[in-house]
Amino acid sequence: MATQPTPERPAVEEGTTDILETALAQLERAASHVSVDPAILERLRHPARVHRVTVPFERDDGTIEIATAYRAQHDSVRGPFKGGMRYHPDVTEAECIGLAMWMTWKCAVMDLPFGGAKGGVVVDPKSLSEDEAERLTRRLAQELRTVVGPDHDIPAPDMGTGGREMAWFMDAYSMQTGENAPGVVTGKPPVVGGSHGREEAPGRSVAIITREMLEYYDRPLEGATIAVQGFGSVGANAARALDSWGADVVAVSDVTGGLYDPDGLPVSNIPTHQEEPEAVANYASDSIPNEELLTLDVDVLIPAAVSNSLTAANAPDVQADFVVEGANGPTTTAAETILTERTIPVIPDVLANAGGVTVSYFEWLQDRSRRRWSLERVRNELNDEMLTAWNAVAREYTSSDELTWREAAYVVALSRVASAHDARGLWP
Ligand code: NAD
Repeated sequence: MATQPTPERPAVEEGTTDILETALAQLERAASHVSVDPAILERLRHPARVHRVTVPFERDDGTIEIATAYRAQHDSVRGPFKGGMRYHPDVTEAECIGLAMWMTWKCAVMDLPFGGAKGGVVVDPKSLSEDEAERLTRRLAQELRTVVGPDHDIPAPDMGTGGREMAWFMDAYSMQTGENAPGVVTGKPPVVGGSHGREEAPGRSVAIITREMLEYYDRPLEGATIAVQGFGSVGANAARALDSWGADVVAVSDVTGGLYDPDGLPVSNIPTHQEEPEAVANYASDSIPNEELLTLDVDVLIPAAVSNSLTAANAPDVQADFVVEGANGPTTTAAETILTERTIPVIPDVLANAGGVTVSYFEWLQDRSRRRWSLERVRNELNDEMLTAWNAVAREYTSSDELTWREAAYVVALSRVASAHDARGLWP
């Protein structure tokens, strides 16, 4: 089912989640700094389309279960819709719309030829056997077949999904369309058209942006002290890259607790969430509670675990000089206000962790040209794309003393999206 917004009826139902409210508030703040045609702005407050599909699938005991799935497509003026597909029991339509909006800005700030989308299935992935996950994913691909495609909407892994699900989705879509269509999803295993360097990309981009930010503030990377909350795909890859470039990663944590050593931790030896789940606190005997990591006296704090880690309750105690967001939405609006008043810059997620979608774009290019890139090429091109995006945001930030880093990133993104709407006009 597709719900179309109209002037009389808002695009979303009552009971919007915080994510959608936050996304809309961020759009309004950015719009107050950019000259945008009010009609284009109004259009951007609403998703282009929201699809709700019913996904019946068979459990291993033969019973049939009915799952609901959403795919919110926010804006495609700059290219096909792009965004993750999550499996989580709390997925809602409103959350998907808010996350889709964030993807529009993330792709625009990186100047990728994509728009924003996000989707999810209301299901607990831990309750699914491998066979059940496969049946669910293949049926999901069937239900979404007419609204996704390499030139239309390109899903990717998100919470509860990974390369395995993307391979099944691509296979089911290819079987249905009769074409080999690796470009319909990204985040696939390299053996079926995935890209080298995709897994490390969001963490690596966090590290690149941290490096550039320190240079902007005339602070050396060598010996800079870093605390990283979350030691999974984003946090561990950021920590290891920064460590290899000479920074001192002095604290890391996972859901079980944290480690702190003012002389630096051997982050290459500490097992990541992917290597051995929830093993950080057991790595050494002198662990710290993970809440304590957020208030350590370090140069850079990187929250890379979950949303809403930095809140009005702990922001007054943050002692880091800078915050670089590794997770999506780790800083609440109230926390950001406090950190801004305390002159602690917060480098936003839409820029810092955008390496993930950037290497997804590289994957899509490789799939379309049927030509694989080396890991070295992926890393070099990612570095170039991150520097270009950083420079655009830093230019905007420097040109005004009114903007936070987040607002500067949104101004860059909104200007690009609005100009594209302006150039294309309204059809018919
Ligand atoms: P992950 O599952 O690989 O790792 C998450 C880590 O955070 C684990 O080590 C977990 O134990 C830890 N953690 C959870 N709750 C915690 C808590 N309260 N305190 C300390 N640690 C805690 O996840 P990921 O892929 O690294 O994603 C982390 C964040 O980054 C999420 O917000 C995700 O949406 C975002 N993100 C991920 C990608 C990607 O491609 N992986 C891209 C962009 C953004």
